[in-house]
Amino acid sequence: TPALVWFRDDLRLADNPALTAAIESGRPLALVYCLDEETEGIRPLGGAARWWLHHSLERLSEDLAAKGHRLILRRGKAAATIERLVDELGAGAVFWNRRYGGAERAVDAALKARFKEKTVAAESRQANLLFEPWTVQTKEGQSFRVYSPFWRACLSGSPPRQPLPAPETWPKAADEVASDDLDDWKLLPRHPDWSGGLRAAWTPGEAGALQRLDDFLENGLRLYAAHRDEPAIDATSRLSPHLRFGEISPFQLWHAVEAASHAASPTPPRRSIDKFLSELGWREFSWHLLFHQADLATRNFQPRFDAFGWQQPVAAQLKAWQQGSTGFPIVDAGMRQLWQTGWMHNRVRMITASFLIKNLLIDWRIGEAWFWDTLVDADAANNPAGWQWVAGSGADAAPYFRIFNPIRQGETYDSKGDYVRAFVPELANRSAAEIHGKTPSAAGDYPAPIVDLDASRKRALAAFAALKNGD
Ligand code: FAD
Repeated sequence: TPALVWFRDDLRLADNPALTAAIESGRPLALVYCLDEETEGIRPLGGAARWWLHHSLERLSEDLAAKGHRLILRRGKAAATIERLVDELGAGAVFWNRRYGGAERAVDAALKARFKEKTVAAESRQANLLFEPWTVQTKEGQSFRVYSPFWRACLSGSPPRQPLPAPETWPKAADEVASDDLDDWKLLPRHPDWSGGLRAAWTPGEAGALQRLDDFLENGLRLYAAHRDEPAIDATSRLSPHLRFGEISPFQLWHAVEAASHAASPTPPRRSIDKFLSELGWREFSWHLLFHQADLATRNFQPRFDAFGWQQPVAAQLKAWQQGSTGFPIVDAGMRQLWQTGWMHNRVRMITASFLIKNLLIDWRIGEAWFWDTLVDADAANNPAGWQWVAGSGADAAPYFRIFNPIRQGETYDSKGDYVRAFVPELANRSAAEIHGKTPSAAGDYPAPIVDLDASRKRALAAFAALKNGD
């Protein structure tokens, strides 16, 4: 009887333990991806992520076809859909790599129980996190709420396993069953098609991920520690959407980056390697948080923030933020980078989030939802964790009184103005001093600032202080 591999957030052939185990079982092989937009609690993908998923599934189908296999596409509530498929195939075993969100785990647990009744073997593997959330605990057996001790605890155990190679010998395919047509899922935007900037910026799929990694090892890694905060410099990996969809695994990254330290010249500085690994650690930490609080995207990690006095958003201000026309160049460059390319540099994510939360006093959940819809790397753990961190409501969060001054942030991290000039054409001919000057240039087509920085800063401090005092 066949073995079924259920692909989820692991759209790759290399270092895919579920796939490898299914192949090693010696059974005929069937492979499926299920689009689940119906199970309660599983967050439907945003627009940019749907675009990515379409292309990633196309690539995965091609890669499997080259091995003589077909990716079956099914849509619906995953638990019922997968069970039905197992019946259709007469499969004797199902393999998947583990997920860590609350609703996803509930689906997987229910299916495991169901298959046990039916005496179908259901096997899960660790593939997408280096340190599974329940394996990392404080001395008291609790989950972690602070990053540094969390990461120390991770590093104190045995190092992550070596990645698995892509399977070389493939068994025969199971008998064919029906599959949806990917185009019928309508994951791509049509009228209007806003995806031109995404197409120009990205190559979804496993080959694109490996290419991106090579590029980073060659060029970015050595700059990483010194320049990762400068958005005009290509010093970060831009692997986040590939990681989000599992086109590459953190195990592959870990060992590739470690191996770079033994490479011939130019050898990246050790601190770049450690810094990069520690950022992978932030991803692990976010998932640790989400595992222990499944509604991280909607509920404050710190309950005292439930009483916070958010302003009812002023529609024009929210729109200016979303469209990148706030009159603050670094904020506008970031929001336009996001809209055009589906990605934003981490430093600028912090600046734009701080601007929405603190200068406009708009609830972090509204910004989180916008990012969710527009980021190609929109991640169920990293996105809410990032927003809550900036808001001050999160675990190990920035203190509430840390209010970024967007002008000073621009001066410090985009000192030459190159990043702003790349995304804000109205300022393309301005000098750095004009771009990041005290009064942002409200000249030509470029808008005047939508808020007064001093006054909005004082308003935010008062609101946060009221919370602190429990007023
Ligand atoms: P690199 O610097 O090359 O880092 C490598 C990998 O480490 C990243 O791909 C990512 O998986 C992980 N990583 C790096 N920084 C962080 C971080 N601060 N927190 C968690 N993981 C990190 N990241 C997402 O993947 N998806 C999101 O939806 C997301 N939303 C964010 C929202 C806000 C408000 C903030 C402040 C941060 C958010 N981040 C998110 C984290 C971070 O900005 C991105 O992971 C990073 O910019 C991706 O670029 P990169 O791949 O070049 O990162």
